[in-house]
Amino acid sequence: MDIHNGSVYWPSTLPSKEPRHAPEKLEKYDVIIVGGGMSGSLTALAFVEAGLKVAVLDKRQMATGSTMANTGLLQYSNDIMLHELIDQIGEQEAVRFYQICYEAVNQLKMVAKRLPSSADFIMRPSICYASSEEDVPKIKKEYETLKKHGFPCDYWEQEELSKHMAFTKAGALVTYDDAEVNPYKFVNGVLDIIEEKGGHLFEFVEVQDVFTIDDQISVRTSVGEFSSSNIIYTTGYETVPVGNRIGADINRSYAMVTKPVDDFTQWHEHALIWETARPYLYVRTTAENRIIIGGLDEENAQAPQSLELIENRGEILLKKLQDLFPQYNLETDYVYGATFGESIDNLPFIGQHPTKEKHYYLLGYGGNGTVYSMLGSHILRDLIMIGHHPDAHLVELDRKYGVK
Ligand SMILES: Cc1cc2nc3c(=O)[nH]c(=O)nc-3n(C[C@H](O)[C@H](O)[C@H](O)COP(=O)(O)OP(=O)(O)OC[C@H]3O[C@@H](n4cnc5c(N)ncnc54)[C@H](O)[C@@H]3O)c2cc1C
Repeated sequence: MDIHNGSVYWPSTLPSKEPRHAPEKLEKYDVIIVGGGMSGSLTALAFVEAGLKVAVLDKRQMATGSTMANTGLLQYSNDIMLHELIDQIGEQEAVRFYQICYEAVNQLKMVAKRLPSSADFIMRPSICYASSEEDVPKIKKEYETLKKHGFPCDYWEQEELSKHMAFTKAGALVTYDDAEVNPYKFVNGVLDIIEEKGGHLFEFVEVQDVFTIDDQISVRTSVGEFSSSNIIYTTGYETVPVGNRIGADINRSYAMVTKPVDDFTQWHEHALIWETARPYLYVRTTAENRIIIGGLDEENAQAPQSLELIENRGEILLKKLQDLFPQYNLETDYVYGATFGESIDNLPFIGQHPTKEKHYYLLGYGGNGTVYSMLGSHILRDLIMIGHHPDAHLVELDRKYGVK
């Protein structure tokens, strides 16, 4: 299955990657991770740094799954607003979830600092504008809720917004301490550290089945069997090799990347831009002075096959971008469509399988997937190494939605 199609931008920002040289496999690993994208690499890093013997297996070249389609916006706010999450799971749990997302952006910053050119990680504010007049009370309520719980944010009336940005909307929620990153550089850099620290990376190795014999996990793959004490599935939006995913909508989305733009006047601090409508449009700038715009989600799990369709969506995205920034001279350079997964309760699936011991999952669905990959890597490290993590219950699989 293709999980993205069209011309993807990030690979052009790194010299082309040769496949990694497969190491001699160990007789037994402490942890085997299935999937070498954002989730798998951050999880492997956490375990390698804790001194465990780790192997990552990926059926593709690593970092070329949905990680390569990721547009790299990192925010403490989520697709579900804090006041909505409070209605869903209660104040204490919802605020704690937002806090761990806030902390995860900072943890991503710490990892990025160790990588070449910091993987183009740059702190940015975010501007979430009201898509329509009717959404103003909603973002005002969100502003009040975030403020009450100590999250850094502002509310801008129409006039204030017009002073800072090229476009006019009825109001906007501004959040601080968010960031942008180049996810492809980030994951390739993390994988290099994992290798340097003795982690084993196996590309083009498909996991086909997993079974347990006498407390040992045996992993059947396209190149033979691997043995481990624990297994973690970080397989992104594709079918998990073991277990049934419950409560996720797998759809598809589009992104367009412009040619470099000379002048970013009327774009406050290169803020990340998004909106209250669902599905939403989102916009960011890049280290090469390009603009990325994404959205136009469709209810279809198949990444689009037709290049004509992808080009058409690229034209629509260009028009929407031009409407926001009429004075910019914009030209499309890259456009692609990709599979995109969202969980029904808007929370990621992270933790041990409810009945299969030593089988763990990190499936960070939703627009904030990278933040979930980060916080999930720490939760899983602690669950496996010390048996508990104080926030694990927020995202556990043993809820109405999860992996059964
Ligand atoms: C268009 C788009 C824009 C996005 N923008 C953002 C954004 O701005 N910010 C954000 O935080 N998130 C964003 N996301 C979400 C983000 O891309 C995902 O959260 C992230 O890529 C998930 O990483 P992952 O490692 O879980 O999945 P992947 O990168 O897909 O990695 C999973 C890996 O598992 C491997 N695999 C699967 N099955 C097997 C098997 N049986 N055996 C071996 N290997 C297997 C695959 O080959 C793949 O490499 C976006 C997603 C899309 C599609």
